[in-house]
Amino acid sequence: MKPAPFDYVRPGSLEDALAALSGDPGAKVLAGGQSLVPLLSMRLAAPSRLVDINGLPGLDEVTVSPGGVRVGALARHADVLTHEEAARVQPLLRLALSHVAHATIRNRGTTVGSIVHADSAAELPMVLTLLGGSVEVVGPSGTRTIPASELYVGPLESSLAHDEIATSASFPALAPGGRVAFAEIARRHGDYALVGAAALVEGGTVKVGYVSVSDVPVVVDLSGVPVKDLGEAALARLEPAGDIHATAAYRAQLVRVLTERVVREATGDE
Ligand SMILES: Cc1cc2nc3c(=O)[nH]c(=O)nc-3n(C[C@H](O)[C@H](O)[C@H](O)COP(=O)(O)OP(=O)(O)OC[C@H]3O[C@@H](n4cnc5c(N)ncnc54)[C@H](O)[C@@H]3O)c2cc1C
Repeated sequence: MKPAPFDYVRPGSLEDALAALSGDPGAKVLAGGQSLVPLLSMRLAAPSRLVDINGLPGLDEVTVSPGGVRVGALARHADVLTHEEAARVQPLLRLALSHVAHATIRNRGTTVGSIVHADSAAELPMVLTLLGGSVEVVGPSGTRTIPASELYVGPLESSLAHDEIATSASFPALAPGGRVAFAEIARRHGDYALVGAAALVEGGTVKVGYVSVSDVPVVVDLSGVPVKDLGEAALARLEPAGDIHATAAYRAQLVRVLTERVVREATGDE
C-alpha cells in the first residue's frame, strides 16, 4: 500500500526541527524509518508532516565513558553493535542487538528510535529498562532526562511529548564483577522474539528483563530465588498473553525456560 499524503521537511538544526514539530500537532519525527515507514505504508499511521532528523549535526555518535554508553539519536543499530568499547563497558548492548532484525535494517534503524518507539517486543526498550538507563530529550521548553522507569506508559506509547526529540540514550556500565546474559526464541533469527529474556547479575542482585511478554518492558527481581524455582517465581510476576504468534501457555513455558537459561549463564551456574 501507499502512505497517505504528508509534508516532508529535513531541517539542518535542532531549533528548526523543534519549530517544525511544534508548528504542526500532526507531525512526527523520522529517524531510520524502519518502524515508521512500514506503519505509513500500511496506513496504520498518517502524520500530516514528517520531520526528518537525519540532517541534524552531532547526533550520530556513540560515546563511551567508565560510567556507561551514550548513544546519539542518529547512531544506527549497526554502529552500536560493532562498537568494541561499548561492548566492553556494557556487553548486554551487543548481546541484545545481535538479535535485532537483519543487517539491512540494523544499518538504517536507530537504537534511540527503537527505544522511543516503545515496542515491548523490541529488545532495546527492555535493555534500557533492565539497566536503569535514560533518554535525553529536547523540546520547546528545554532539555530533560527521562529515566527508563518513566518512559514506557502503554503499548507503543512513550512519555515523550509530540513536540520533543530524543537526542540520545544512556546505558549504565556493567558494575565490576557483574555479568549479563541474553536469550530469545523467534520463528527465524532476526524476527521479533516470541519471548526474550536478559539477566543482569550485579552486586548480589539478580534481575531479569523480558521481551514480548507484556505491553511495556518489564523487569523482575529474582535475587535469592533458588534455580529450580526461577521460572515459577518469574511467572508469579508476569502475565504472558497469547496472540497469533504464540499462545499464552507457550509464552509461559518460554518464560520458564529462558529465565532459568539466562540466570544460569549470568551466574556461571551452567
Ligand atoms: C522487517 C523488520 C524487522 C524488525 N525486527 C526487529 C527486531 O527483531 N527487534 C527490534 O527491536 N526491532 C526490529 N525492527 C525495528 C527496527 O529496530 C527499527 O529500527 C526501530 O524500531 C525504530 O528505529 P528507527 O530509527 O527506524 O525509527 P523510525 O521508524 O524512524 O521511528 C519510529 C518511531 O519513533 C519516533 N522517533 C524515532 N526517533 C526519534 C527521536 N530521536 N525522537 C523522537 N521520536 C523519534 C518516530 O516518530 C516514530 O514514531 C524491525 C523492523 C523491520 C522493518
